[in-house]
Amino acid sequence: MTPGRAAAPGLVLRGGTVLTCDARSTVVRGDVLVAGGRIAALGRVRAPEGTRSIDCRDRLILPGLVLAHVHLCQTLFRGLASDLPLLEWLRRRVWPLEAAHDERSLRASAELGLSELLLAGVTTILDLGTVHDQDVVFDACVRAGIRVIGGKSLMDSGAGVPRRLREPTARALGDAERLAREWNGHPSGRVEHAWIPRFVLSCSERLVRGAVERARAAGAALHTHAAEHPAERAAVRAALGADDLTVLRRWGWRGPRASIAHGVQLRAGARRALARDGVGVVHCPSANLKLGSGIAQVAALRGAGVVVGLGADGAPCNDNLDPFVELRHAALLSSVAAGPGAMPAAGALALATRDGARLLGLEATIGSVEVGKAADLLVLRTDAPHLGLAPDPAAAVVYAAQARDVEHVLVGGEPVVAGAELQTLDAGRVVAVARDEQRRLRRRAEV
Ligand SMILES: [Zn+2]
Repeated sequence: MTPGRAAAPGLVLRGGTVLTCDARSTVVRGDVLVAGGRIAALGRVRAPEGTRSIDCRDRLILPGLVLAHVHLCQTLFRGLASDLPLLEWLRRRVWPLEAAHDERSLRASAELGLSELLLAGVTTILDLGTVHDQDVVFDACVRAGIRVIGGKSLMDSGAGVPRRLREPTARALGDAERLAREWNGHPSGRVEHAWIPRFVLSCSERLVRGAVERARAAGAALHTHAAEHPAERAAVRAALGADDLTVLRRWGWRGPRASIAHGVQLRAGARRALARDGVGVVHCPSANLKLGSGIAQVAALRGAGVVVGLGADGAPCNDNLDPFVELRHAALLSSVAAGPGAMPAAGALALATRDGARLLGLEATIGSVEVGKAADLLVLRTDAPHLGLAPDPAAAVVYAAQARDVEHVLVGGEPVVAGAELQTLDAGRVVAVARDEQRRLRRRAEV
């Protein structure tokens, strides 16, 4: 490890067990020096005079977690859409609620989700946005201090889509271009625009091709839902004569920086095609279980060479946004799908760290605790009864840790959570406002 010194003020995380989540899942006992927003040194560190220090004895230090598929606009719908399969869930609940959002309810929804995510150690998200007012979501992300790749949800067709969510193709693409112009290069350095056709059933060929071309030209991330639920796949086949992944590939869906969420229904041939095309898959285990979609074959996807990240999806299909729940579900489901040991704990942890970063094309900046990377870090207490014994720290994180064990979170070296308290938003106020806005939203949506 590289010892080093950094300019004051800086910060040193002192005396922890560091799960670096690097390519070899190295574990380091020692310190992490943060300077200029980056990881300046790792191991036994001599910090400059006056450097602030956080005592990390009996703590685990990890890279900030990456959730590569979330819907901040849906956090306000928590508890309003249970017990339905995917297409009914969308048509009867989620779309009417999304269509009824105004700027106030959208901000309340985003802030509620961001509070939960940051308190749980999530420092980077891919957010799928909604059709209108994505500026509100980006602004909430900047104020909360999270790193976000996101964009508006692109929709121009589809059965059961409310009028307000169905835009003319040119207007959808034009508004997304405006968002890219206005938010890429934001002074916070934490916002990046992505191209996000919602899914094949709500997008025309022209819309998807338009997004693909623009993402490629800009080197931007490209993301959608695919191969999620058997009934959805059957509907795609009935409408377009092929399954959704085949259709997407025909319309140019290729890496780098392209991904799909779910991939539950993929067979061996499709897995190989994704690997060849450089398209990643975001595994959303809780959502797949709640909507009865099935179990994604994560070990087989990885075996074929596909990069797999982790997502919480939206609050109405989960119902929480807790990365520790998703890690645990991913590991447990892998045991069911491919046998115990097919995805050891360190491999599961990679889903929400280095592989999530790679899937988003951010592996040079985040995803592991390595010198030179952004200081997106989380400190986890290990003194609660459920974590008191942690001889294998990766197993402790994946199988036993909970969001409430998160003590400190840094994004770019700035504390967003300190002593388990959110620093950037008033969590109590956020919940109170969200309650009011949910009431108003339900009235508007008649749900
Ligand atoms: Zn989703």
